[in-house]
Amino acid sequence: IAVRGVEGQKIAVLGLGRSGLATAAALQAGGAEVLAWDDSPEGRARAETAGFVCRDLSKAGAFEDVALLVVSPGIPHLYPHPNPIIAQAMQMGVPVDNDIGLFFRSWAGPDWDSFDVAPKTICVTGSNGKSTTTALIHHVLTHCGRRSQMAGNIGRGVLDLEPAEDGDVVVLELSSYQTDLARALTPDVAVFTNLSPDHLDRHAGMGGYFAAKRRLFAEGGPDRAVIGVDEPEGVYLANQIATNREDDRLIRIAVSRKLGDWGWSVFARKGFLAEWRKGRQVASIDLRAIKGLPGAHNHQNACAAFAALRAIGLAPREIEAAFHSFAGLPHRSQTVAEKGGVAWVNDSKATNVDSASKALQAFKNIRWIAGGLGKEGGVASLAKDLEHVKKAYFIGHSARDFALQLTGLDHEICETMDAAVAACARDAVAGDTVLLAPAAASFDQYGSFEKRGEHFVALVEALAD
Ligand code: ADP
Repeated sequence: IAVRGVEGQKIAVLGLGRSGLATAAALQAGGAEVLAWDDSPEGRARAETAGFVCRDLSKAGAFEDVALLVVSPGIPHLYPHPNPIIAQAMQMGVPVDNDIGLFFRSWAGPDWDSFDVAPKTICVTGSNGKSTTTALIHHVLTHCGRRSQMAGNIGRGVLDLEPAEDGDVVVLELSSYQTDLARALTPDVAVFTNLSPDHLDRHAGMGGYFAAKRRLFAEGGPDRAVIGVDEPEGVYLANQIATNREDDRLIRIAVSRKLGDWGWSVFARKGFLAEWRKGRQVASIDLRAIKGLPGAHNHQNACAAFAALRAIGLAPREIEAAFHSFAGLPHRSQTVAEKGGVAWVNDSKATNVDSASKALQAFKNIRWIAGGLGKEGGVASLAKDLEHVKKAYFIGHSARDFALQLTGLDHEICETMDAAVAACARDAVAGDTVLLAPAAASFDQYGSFEKRGEHFVALVEALAD
């Protein structure tokens, strides 16, 4: 994508990671003169290798001839301190944007009249389940023969996307880091999954965090909104949208309760997804039959994806058929093998207590592999989720701590993943689920949660059938 409306302008790009470099390239393709900067010499070296000119943006007067500053999502800009470079630009009256804002300004946004043909953008935000919901929407579209591209927080930079044609869809996962600075946020469909505390250090508490996410739903934002109303913040947001717009542009979703009385809603109860419109049920899906979406948390993701796809006109039956072939995302409640009636599930992404809690509620007869680099607050609060755990196999730095905090739980200290997988293979009987949901970071033994999950999968694959 070439950025529109920047021809001949000097544009500063701050932060030269993957998205920063994609941004610089898209600006250059649009005819801008790019001035790149990163606090780290490695970042600047990357930019220079790619042929961009660097300018030290921290110097006084650096913004005198600059038309726009584009900031990478990884850079905190207001809290705990104003970033000095961004502050200088603002004081000079230079507008500040990010790649998401540039994307929306450059994307040929369809108007409401052509809603059924032009390319569509669907944006997904929320605290948990963003990646799963984004990937699920993309999967269904692809399965149904629609050309879909997926980008944003899930990996690919938004300015790396191919130009789209009529009928195409672009699905973007947006974190609060991306929504807080974008000057334009005008998707066709915007999805808010749920809200729980996260990244509070950067957004100065829940207020700032919610405000960043809410920007996606401001006036002039999406044509259609899908809002999770399982938390009070979602209820507030939905009510605000409902009072400002026609009802058929808002779909409420929930897993905590029935929503049939609202204009348009999608909710999951006891394993069934239901869509209601104007007081009548119009569709239903048995989610229990869908292997790739286990647990209430995934039923919430299914509701979000279903609603977004209904909002762009897909039929319930084609969505249901595609749900069945969704394999789940790697490292998120992913069943990686079934051997002798034992299911092996990789949820290495469950790096905190909240996501581990969801995983523990999603399965039965669990042999639970947990531990690693423990987080502040400990795991004692998981005591309420252990009803279906037959035995725990603790690994890593926090192994003994976890055993002490979760008293009364049958457990074994295994130290390593190798030992834990071997012990589970020894103990498990048909009907058991071996669940890797560490409730801890991976950095004591691995470079990342992905590496930890890959090691688990390799060990499981090496087991006899
Ligand atoms: P995100 O992109 O928002 O971090 P992911 O889809 O990557 O979300 O899931 C992150 C972790 O949270 C995984 O451990 C996953 O099993 C769990 N999870 C997924 N969906 C939800 C949800 N709707 N609510 C709570 N936890 C979830």
